[in-house]
Amino acid sequence: MLRRTKIVATLGPASDDKETLCDMINAGLDVARLNFSHGDAADHIRRADLLRSAAESCGREVGIMGDLQGPKIRIRRFKEHSVSLVDGERFFLDSTLDLMDGDQDGVGVALDSLHEDVSPGDILLLNDGMITLEIVSIDGTRIHTTVINGGILSDHKGINLKGGGLSAPALTEIDKQNIRLAAEMNLDFLAVSFVRNGEDVEEARRLLKEAGGNGLIVAKVERVEAVENINSIIEASDVIMVARGDLGVEIGYAELIGIQKKLIRKTRKAHKIVITATQMMESMIQNPIPTRAEVSDVSNAVIDGTDAVMLSGETAMGAYPAGTIAAMAEVCVGAEKFPQPISQTSHRMQDHFGLVDEAIAMATMYTANHMSVKAIIALTESGSTTRWMSRIRSDIPIYAFTPYVSTSRRVAMYRGVYPVQFEIDGENPRSLYRDIVDTLLANKLVEEGDFALLTKGELNGVSGSTNSMSVIKITSSS
Ligand code: PEP
Repeated sequence: MLRRTKIVATLGPASDDKETLCDMINAGLDVARLNFSHGDAADHIRRADLLRSAAESCGREVGIMGDLQGPKIRIRRFKEHSVSLVDGERFFLDSTLDLMDGDQDGVGVALDSLHEDVSPGDILLLNDGMITLEIVSIDGTRIHTTVINGGILSDHKGINLKGGGLSAPALTEIDKQNIRLAAEMNLDFLAVSFVRNGEDVEEARRLLKEAGGNGLIVAKVERVEAVENINSIIEASDVIMVARGDLGVEIGYAELIGIQKKLIRKTRKAHKIVITATQMMESMIQNPIPTRAEVSDVSNAVIDGTDAVMLSGETAMGAYPAGTIAAMAEVCVGAEKFPQPISQTSHRMQDHFGLVDEAIAMATMYTANHMSVKAIIALTESGSTTRWMSRIRSDIPIYAFTPYVSTSRRVAMYRGVYPVQFEIDGENPRSLYRDIVDTLLANKLVEEGDFALLTKGELNGVSGSTNSMSVIKITSSS
C-alpha cells in the first residue's frame, strides 16, 4: 500500500552525511526542511547540495523547504551562560541591558519595543513555556516580573507573550536576506514564520518573486493573531503549517489540537496544502520507538486529512533520523487504513466550479471513487490539477506526469500525489498513450487489464490547460 501522507523532515547535524540522507529518503522522506534559525548561508547551501545529490543517487525527487527565522523574540546572554530561576523571586527583562550582562536579577531582551507591548499582569513564557514570568511593573525599558514557574534559563531562549500581541513585524532584515538566498538556491518551498495576516504572506511572496524565486509560500500559523486572521492567510498562501511549538505556547496547549483540526479542515476546504508540525515523534530524539501518545498524535493528523507531517529535532539532532522517518511512515500507512467514507464522498457535490481544470479534476475524482480504477494520471505543468484532485478523499494514487523537476518536487508535498518524470510528445497522441501505459507498467504501478483515468490538455500541447479526462484500459505493447 502506497503511503498517501507526506513526510517533511528537518536537516541538521544528525543528518549531515550522504549515507544518512539516503537512508532517510529510502525510509520515506518527501520534503527536507532547512531551518534558517540555525547555521549560516554556507551551511544551508551545503545541506541542500548534499540532499539533492543523495536524492539523485536514490532516483527520487525530494522537495526542499527553507524556513525563515522570523521575529522570534529572544533573551540575550548571561555572564555565566545560564541562571536558575526560583518560584516567587523577582527577575527583570530590559532591552537596553548590555548584550552579555545577564545575571540572577535580570537579562537583556532582543526586542526594543517589548516594554511598550506588555502590561502588568501579563504572562511571559520563556524557553517554549518551560518558564513562566508574571509582569509586576514596567519602569522605562525595564520589565519587572515575579517567577511563577522557575527552572534553568540559558542564553538566547525564546520569549512568547501568553495570548499574543507582540508588535514585531513578520519579516526581519535577516529574513529578507534569507529570502534572496532561498531564490538563489531555487528552493521549492519558503516557510514564513510568525505571520500575522495575509499581507505578511503577500510581502514574502513579492520579495521572493523579486529575487527570482518561484517556490510555494508556506505560512506558519504560530501566533494568536494568525489564528484570528486565518482566512486572509489561507487565501494568500500555497501551504499552511500548523506550527504547534510556538502556537501551543501562545494559546496554551489545551486548545491546540482543536485549533489544529480546524486549520486542517479550513485549509483543505480552500484547496490548499497543510502540514502538521512539531513534537510529533519527540521522544525518538533519544528512543528507537515512538510513544503510544506520539503514534496517536500522528494518526489523528493523518485521519483528519493533513497533507504532511513534519519532524524537527528528531531528524536534525536525534539519534535515529532514518528510524524516525520509517516509524512515522509506518504510522501514516496504518492510520490511512481507516479513512473516512471515501467512495460515497459528497464533498463539493453542490459546488459550482470556476475553472476548467478544476471541473475536470472533480469529474475525475468522482469517476475514480465510483468505479474500479487503479491509477489517476495527470499530465501536468504546474501540478495544479493534482492539487485539486488531492483535496478529494480517495485511496487511489494520483500520478503527476510532468517534464518539470520543479513540479515533481512541489507535488511531493501533496497528499496522495506521486511525481513521475515524463517527457511529453505532443505531436503524436497514439504514441503518447502507449508511452504513458508503458511507464505505468515499467514502474509496476498498474497491471494488464486495470483501468486508469488520464487528464490532459487537448488544446495547447498536452500538459497544462487541462480540459479532458479519458478512461484507459491497460494493455501491454507485446
Ligand atoms: C513551531 O513553532 O512549531 C515551528 C515549526 O517553528 P520553529 O521550529 O521554527 O520554532
